[in-house]
Amino acid sequence: MITINGLHKKFDKLEVLKGIDLNVEQGQVVVLIGPSGSGKTTFLRCLNALEIPDQGKVSLSDVSLDFNGKINKQKLLQYRRQSGMVFQNYNLFPHKTALENVMEGPVIVKKEPKAKVAERAKILLEKVGLGDKFDYYPHQLSGGQQQRVGIARALAIEPKVMLFDEPTSALDPELVGEVLKVMKDLANEGMTMVVVTHEMRFAKEAADEVIFMDGGVIVERGKPFQIFDNPQEERTKRFLNMIQ
Ligand code: ATP
Repeated sequence: MITINGLHKKFDKLEVLKGIDLNVEQGQVVVLIGPSGSGKTTFLRCLNALEIPDQGKVSLSDVSLDFNGKINKQKLLQYRRQSGMVFQNYNLFPHKTALENVMEGPVIVKKEPKAKVAERAKILLEKVGLGDKFDYYPHQLSGGQQQRVGIARALAIEPKVMLFDEPTSALDPELVGEVLKVMKDLANEGMTMVVVTHEMRFAKEAADEVIFMDGGVIVERGKPFQIFDNPQEERTKRFLNMIQ
């Protein structure tokens, strides 16, 4: 489903990604953990080509991009439209209702008919437990509710994979659970997901594979029990000791 080879990214002289390789199978949930500044967000943004890597290849479903050469704009758009991204700070349009936020992508980007999109958007909002909040504006919703709108919005473009960038880290602790529950439901339905998170419980319970990143490389990867109960690398052990 997702194949990544030799991904490199620099910001000026700072080499943030130093050659990342990754394969994600259809329906897999991959959780990325690692210290602050290790390049997790940058990796996720390169993965959906929001950020253009300096080198490497990414392939998602049947669209591939080779950053070692010139990128075709049409292909880049086609590539981006296959993944739904959920951001730490929700990134909702403040002057649009929950329903309008969810409709935005399919209507504006994919030029789908409004009536059809509205129907789908309502179903998605119901799915994330917001069937009674269609007409609410972001400021009238709690952080957890806003993030659930964010998830419904990402799903509205009917993505092949969902990418989550620390989706619960801006939330008050009591609101984290409701967002993680929606994510777990999605995982159980077979959605392919790549999740950057500090929620180790989610990683333990929902991940098929946990990847520990540090210093722009993948240090260690494995099943949750391998990484959490029996880490092999010193850097992984140090990180887990620090956070647990
Ligand atoms: P955190 O867990 O704190 O979010 P992270 O592992 O997601 O950290 P990144 O956000 O990918 O790390 O950042 C990795 C490094 O790249 C940091 O040193 C950061 O300052 C730098 N960086 C990220 N984006 C940019 C940018 N657009 N311009 C310049 N430097 C950047």
